[in-house]
Amino acid sequence: MDNTSILLIYTGGTIGMKQDPISFDLRPFDFSQILEEMPELRKFGYNIETYSFNPVIDSSDVDIPFWKHLAELLEQNYEKYDGFVILHGTDTMSFSASAISFMLSNNEKPIIFTGSQLPIGMLRTDGKENLISSIEIAAAKDSQGHPMVPEVCIYFESHLYRGNRTTKYNAENFRAFRSANYPVLADVGIHIKYNTQFINYPKEWGKQLQVRTNMDPSALIIKITPGLRKDILESMLSIKGIRAVILETFGSGNAPSGKWFTECIKEAIDKGIIILNVTQCHAGKVDMGAYSTGKSLKDIGVIGGSDITTEAAMAKLLFLLGQYPDNKDVRLFLEKNLCGEISE
Ligand code: ASP
Repeated sequence: MDNTSILLIYTGGTIGMKQDPISFDLRPFDFSQILEEMPELRKFGYNIETYSFNPVIDSSDVDIPFWKHLAELLEQNYEKYDGFVILHGTDTMSFSASAISFMLSNNEKPIIFTGSQLPIGMLRTDGKENLISSIEIAAAKDSQGHPMVPEVCIYFESHLYRGNRTTKYNAENFRAFRSANYPVLADVGIHIKYNTQFINYPKEWGKQLQVRTNMDPSALIIKITPGLRKDILESMLSIKGIRAVILETFGSGNAPSGKWFTECIKEAIDKGIIILNVTQCHAGKVDMGAYSTGKSLKDIGVIGGSDITTEAAMAKLLFLLGQYPDNKDVRLFLEKNLCGEISE
């Protein structure tokens, strides 16, 4: 028996569902049945312990208290386990992996989110491979005894991704996630090939884990579209209590060049609202110097989101707003790479 210990956390989602034999509806089953469904997990020889959220949730119901609970659970069990596997619905998995990556500083252990497109109880399920490989990755150590992947990740369909670089982009295919702006951390085939040059390793090991769970949800996403009405934009920017807005712009960070648009945004900035420019494109980055339509945003104080995903941008904003009551401090950290979410 290996002395590696893994904590398997079940939060909900398709992976833990069973089909009702009469109605064919998908219903969550008792988590203890996961080990019954997959006796092969015992073959690892690891000490695999389980924790189930109660109630388990569809990930569309994920909220800030859920993230707080998850972060605290990881903190309480951090010393006891070598790695963590979190079973989570795919719909908001990228948001959750991003949120946890910001909430945990100095993390040195593998925290692997996974799930599936088909329930684990179904014949063609992708859940079994996803779970088995996630456990193997969470347990993997290098020759010095350090974890191979000391990061918050998503493992899905043969690929290990940095969690805060991912987006769910396919609701049908087994390959549900993509990390368009950052290479995969590991490829899983006959062997697990770790791409160590892309994995974040601590400069020195043994730092104390720091967990900060305060979040402030006073942020909003505005996706720009051709024909956007002035009064609609104005009313969104004047919602009471809003501290920050993610402006989803075209291409490399471009927006309508009309005076009314720039004035609206400037007015919001003058009121102290943070405007973060994130591209609507699935790959590439915001460069507000490339076109005059982007440059005018830069000139009025819009912050460039570089190559951050919308999911990571939202999680980062909620986290920073929760940590700093003054938007000046939030601005300062927003442009910094906190845990691999943007390229430097
Ligand atoms: N609706 C489910 C969820 O996100 C889908 C899934 O698990 O893939 O919880």
